[in-house]
Amino acid sequence: MKEVIIATKNKGKAKDFETLLAPYGVRVLTLHDVAEDLDVEETGTTFRENARLKAETVAERLGKMVIADDSGLAVDALGGRPGVYSARFSGPDATDGKNIEKLLEELADVPDEERTARFICVLAVSGPGRETHYYEGSCEGRIMRTPSGDNGFGYDPVFYVPNEERTMAQLTPEEKAAVSHRGAAIRQLEEEAGTLFGEEG
Ligand code: IMP
Repeated sequence: MKEVIIATKNKGKAKDFETLLAPYGVRVLTLHDVAEDLDVEETGTTFRENARLKAETVAERLGKMVIADDSGLAVDALGGRPGVYSARFSGPDATDGKNIEKLLEELADVPDEERTARFICVLAVSGPGRETHYYEGSCEGRIMRTPSGDNGFGYDPVFYVPNEERTMAQLTPEEKAAVSHRGAAIRQLEEEAGTLFGEEG
């Protein structure tokens, strides 16, 4: 079976990719499988920069084609925050729970119609001897006042998807794949690259 390396240690992202790539008959490997010791510091100020850092560092180290995902939540009432800092929104000991708590606190006085937000995902594909390519996807929604649902990860329990009339965490993995920012970015990659990962896979 064809294997693809995703430059992440985030278990939620890895699961999303497993669902997204299953239809292509591709097995997902993460840094836990191929380079446990490798931690890439996300020093960039944009999704693209951080995706590039992760993809190029890991591709160089392994000498193989790699996909990196940098993603986050942009909330309109917060001027686009937490954005690239979504994973660390509540500080150095951030957890998904603490991040959600901080988000709901900051939005406590924001009325329902102004709680619009979007998830953004930038994928960087890098490999030895080839230029890095980028693919982007986003998903529009609204921030709820209380969490609902047990699926997904990160901000999924408070991210309401209007077309589905449920939070992202109330969707099945396949339903999330069909509407998510990560799904949109993968479909763009597929469309533009023609094939997911080229000959070297
Ligand atoms: P990074 O790309 O590793 O810097 O972190 C992305 C962060 O954005 C995650 O830790 C989550 O907090 C948030 N995020 C990205 N994608 C999703 C998603 O699909 N659902 C919920 N939260 C997400």
